[in-house]
Amino acid sequence: MKYFVLIPDGAADEPQESLGGKSPLEYASIPTLDRLAMQGRVGLTNHVPDSFNPGSEVACMSLMGYDPMKYFTGRAPLEAAAKGISLGPEDWAVRCNLVTIEDNGDGPVMADFTADHITTDESVSLLEAAQKGLADDFPEATGWEFVPGISYRNLLLFRAKDGAASELGVDLRTTAPHDRVKQHIADAFPRGTGSRLLTEIMGHSETWLKDHPVNASRRNKGLGIATHVWLWGAGQRPAFESFKSKYGVQGTMITGVDLLRGLAALAGWRCREVKGATGYLDTDYAAKGQAAIDELRTSDLVCVHVEAPDEAGHEGNASAKVKALEEIDEKIVSPVIEYLEQQGSGGEPYRVLVCPDHPTFCSTRMHSRGLVPFIIAGSGVKGVSAETYDEKAAAVGETLAQGSTLMAALFEDTEG
Ligand SMILES: [Zn+2]
Repeated sequence: MKYFVLIPDGAADEPQESLGGKSPLEYASIPTLDRLAMQGRVGLTNHVPDSFNPGSEVACMSLMGYDPMKYFTGRAPLEAAAKGISLGPEDWAVRCNLVTIEDNGDGPVMADFTADHITTDESVSLLEAAQKGLADDFPEATGWEFVPGISYRNLLLFRAKDGAASELGVDLRTTAPHDRVKQHIADAFPRGTGSRLLTEIMGHSETWLKDHPVNASRRNKGLGIATHVWLWGAGQRPAFESFKSKYGVQGTMITGVDLLRGLAALAGWRCREVKGATGYLDTDYAAKGQAAIDELRTSDLVCVHVEAPDEAGHEGNASAKVKALEEIDEKIVSPVIEYLEQQGSGGEPYRVLVCPDHPTFCSTRMHSRGLVPFIIAGSGVKGVSAETYDEKAAAVGETLAQGSTLMAALFEDTEG
């Protein structure tokens, strides 16, 4: 049996006035997904447990069959895994943004969570200065290491040496800087065990970065500067068991997004990199479809994650979301299903799972918790089918309260 999983990130939505009262999934012309809904079983599920924010890190973990209540420890450990960094049992990973905080007299405001899209080279220089500042200002805090990533997205790691433990505790809570855009941040600093150290590092970072040559040169060019590091998403190594031992098959991930690469690495999946997979609206859909077909020749399960519908939602652009869904149907789903059907006629059966991680509403431009429509189709799948693939049509099927059980349903023997 071959398995194909499609995650159209943020695809679920509400009816749109601009689409004649239809949701993007209802409005889009997606004949192959509709056919899968007719041949298979549809339903609704929720990948965001009540106690979590509706982030892709939580929702995609659930979709991959890992209950966030049990496995989620924070966003930064997933990003560390994506970089190939393996954390020890006492280590911590903390997400470190370079940000622009402004204070025009009535308290500090998160002016830009990307520091005006600071470049990777600039970030590397600034984090070197931060590392030196940390050593000078916090001589007792050993084991902490700034790790540059891409642009404003970096990490701060705690590496436990010689039995030393960090000051951080599992009750530590932080705020994502992109959740405070143009808002006051006085109440957005870390809370819980270890929050004092992180808050002090964030405060001191102003003196480490303010007069750095990188910022001086950005000022001269009229660009925004990196005033601070913002620390969030802290966590320890998640205790993933491998997907193969959990579900008995080996997976391959195709994505343009680091979080998904990290989840794949933790699950023991391979990652297939695709040139032109940008994680944005201009991603090369056909290249992803072709890569999925290549991988299906050797891998039991291939998962294609497409970020574009989510990006369209964040831009509040319903017609761009429709376009992304149509591209996914035409250039990924259709050729992959055609390939699987050919193989099927040669005797190799297949199953397909399609499900968004969470809704991203064009109206609010934000992720939302709530139900998303799924399809499971293919060999031996029985259940309630629908005429089309969308939120309304899928509501005729069953509602799976716990999204992390959906993956097991893909492997269920439904013939007996
Ligand atoms: Zn998103």
